[in-house]
Amino acid sequence: MRFQLQPPASKRPVSSHTSRRVGGSTAGTYRPAIFLDRDGVINRLIYHKDVGIIDSPFTVRQFEIFPRVARAIRLFNSLRIPVIVVSNQPGIAKGHFNAATLHSFDRKMHSVLSSAGAHLDAVYYCLHHPQAVLPELRKRCGCRKPGIGMLQRAVGEFAVSLPDSFMIGDGITDIEAGSRAGCKTVFIGNWKCECCKFIRPPGLRPTFMASDLWEAAQLVVGKLRREVRKSWLETTTHVPPG
Ligand SMILES: [Mg+2]
Ligand SMILES: [Zn+2]
Repeated sequence: MRFQLQPPASKRPVSSHTSRRVGGSTAGTYRPAIFLDRDGVINRLIYHKDVGIIDSPFTVRQFEIFPRVARAIRLFNSLRIPVIVVSNQPGIAKGHFNAATLHSFDRKMHSVLSSAGAHLDAVYYCLHHPQAVLPELRKRCGCRKPGIGMLQRAVGEFAVSLPDSFMIGDGITDIEAGSRAGCKTVFIGNWKCECCKFIRPPGLRPTFMASDLWEAAQLVVGKLRREVRKSWLETTTHVPPG
């Protein structure tokens, strides 16, 4: 078996914009990771009546974590699979909230998860936006999904094998970013025909569809287990004689 199905050595609370190695991985080690979009996967989207849009929460009060999220993340933690949030957060760039608010979202997210025995291994945000009102965040970057900058960052920091990893999100850009990076993908929500029209390249579909993160986690872990079994069978049947 190339990845360990064993409990984590310790709980690892992680602050935002940082990451850490887990379980002493080495380069070349088979290491699937779980990439999670944040809004609509971990926490609820909010209808902002004043501006008439459905968007990320703008205040800590609006930041509400879905049921069964901690349970899903705990399952990945128990298998020692790094769980990495990769999220476009242009809210600061657009002037919806400030950096302190984003840190408060993180504190709330980490504290809710940790009180349920779950932890995130890293949180990566793209803060940029091409039409940002803040000039320092106005740019076309490689990290904004469907760009794959944040997924590539994990390759270096966690020795992640992208083809063995999963990108889980509720947006077209999540499925596009995951696919471009060579990952498998899970779409959270109802895959409507309207969405299909916009996804690039045309005809691209997620590996799985799920109603929430817990359902996604079960599908992903089932697939990883089947692949571990397959790779174990391949190694045992191809042992050279003598
Ligand atoms: Mg989302
Ligand atoms: Zn960016």
